Amino acid sequence: MNTISEAQLRKIELLKLSGINEIFMQETEPISKEKYLQQFEAEYKDCANCKLAKTRNKIVWGEGNIDADIVFVGEGPGEQEDLQGIPFVGKAGQLLTKMLTAIDLSREDVYITNIVKCRPPGNRNPQEDEIQACMPYLEFQLSIIQPKIICALGKVAGNTLLQNDDTLTKMRQKFFPFSSSKLMVTYHPSALLHNPDWKRPAWEDLKMLKREYAELR
Ligand code: URA
Repeated sequence: MNTISEAQLRKIELLKLSGINEIFMQETEPISKEKYLQQFEAEYKDCANCKLAKTRNKIVWGEGNIDADIVFVGEGPGEQEDLQGIPFVGKAGQLLTKMLTAIDLSREDVYITNIVKCRPPGNRNPQEDEIQACMPYLEFQLSIIQPKIICALGKVAGNTLLQNDDTLTKMRQKFFPFSSSKLMVTYHPSALLHNPDWKRPAWEDLKMLKREYAELR
């Protein structure tokens, strides 16, 4: 019997968003996760589902290991990310790389993406309509990668994924069930650059992440 995978379901949702209500599904050869993500990125390369399309240079889909057990989710691309098409490559990105190194991980061990894939002008917070327009993409990525742990970076990512309006303080230092994964929330690296006092509690969060990751091994 033919079955529809979670990823295919997400794709159907995306098609519905583009106004396509009827589809004909043909049996195809199974393709690798990598190919599936690449095909998807190529298909949506001209996405104009929200107003961020008008001001972006590049869509920043995500980067890293598609078989990763951990996915980091930031808020949205900044200036450098928008120019290069790669997430977390600016100052905050350099700090994120250091944070990973501190818990014996590299960028190649994890997958890194954002709530919105296009840069909000002037690095403002993404707006609700932009988040809603972009969420199916993140859901699709997560359904392909199927991480065991999701780490939301900052209040915006935490609130979006947990669908709440809690403070960061309330959300951190715990794991929430999230689909078939566990989700934790910690400080956004940009916030740590502006508030060095938060580096100590952020380290507690990273140690919690490291312990949970070790338990998977
Ligand atoms: N801040 C984010 O939230 N994401 C990036 O990719 C870069 C900076």
